[in-house]
Parts: sequence; C-alpha cells; structure tokens
Amino acid sequence: MRMTKQRIQILDIFKSYAKPLSAEMIMEKLPDDALNLSTIYRTLETFYDEELISKSTIEHTNYYYLNDHKHHHYMICLSCHKMIEIDCHLHEFEEQVAKAHQFKVTHHDMTLYGYCHECQPKAS
Ligand SMILES: [Zn+2]
Ligand SMILES: [Zn+2]
Repeated sequence: MRMTKQRIQILDIFKSYAKPLSAEMIMEKLPDDALNLSTIYRTLETFYDEELISKSTIEHTNYYYLNDHKHHHYMICLSCHKMIEIDCHLHEFEEQVAKAHQFKVTHHDMTLYGYCHECQPKAS
C-alpha cells in the first residue's frame, strides 16, 4: 500500500484520538478541504483491507479504530462512544470449535456494545 500524505494524515488522527472514529468525524478533524468524504471512506476501507484498522458498526455508522499488535477486544458505549479495552479469552474456545468442525480459523472479531458506567443512568 502506498502511504500518501492523505493516508498519513488519517492515520495520525487515529493515533491522537483513542476512540472509534467515523468517516465524518475524521473529515471534521482534517484541515479544511484536505479530503472529501468519499476519499476518506475509500481510504478507510483500504486500511481495513490491509488490517491497519478494525471496524464496528453503531446504528448504521461504521466506526474505525487502529489495530495495534497486541490482540484485544473492545466494549463500546453506544452513548458516548467510549472504548474500553478488554483482554481476549477466546483462543481456547476457538481451538475447541475449530477442532469440532474441522475449521481452520484465521482470525476473529468481537465487540461488546452497551452503556458505560457514566451513561447507564441516561440510558435507562
Ligand atoms: Zn458512555
Ligand atoms: Zn480475541
């Protein structure tokens, strides 16, 4: 993948905001007229294909976040979009089901959605 100036700009935004970002949110954080929304969408899909970022969907909007090398999962608050990093406990389960179905697992994905402690009173 070619690292253009625009791609570096988008990656820098992900590095400075440790929370999931939608294409619109990235657009707002970029300097005026730097990129149009469809270029941002295309770039995000490229990053996703290259496994640089992961994606979760909240109410029909895709939110993207950086993949770092340590494997973990996230709980995402539907109200404030806070991300809480959680350890992965799926590897043993993955081995069991893969063996039972003679399936070769390459990777997995899991996101928990709900309301964080601060947002629970508002959500109920
Ligand atoms: Zn919250
Ligand atoms: Zn995992």
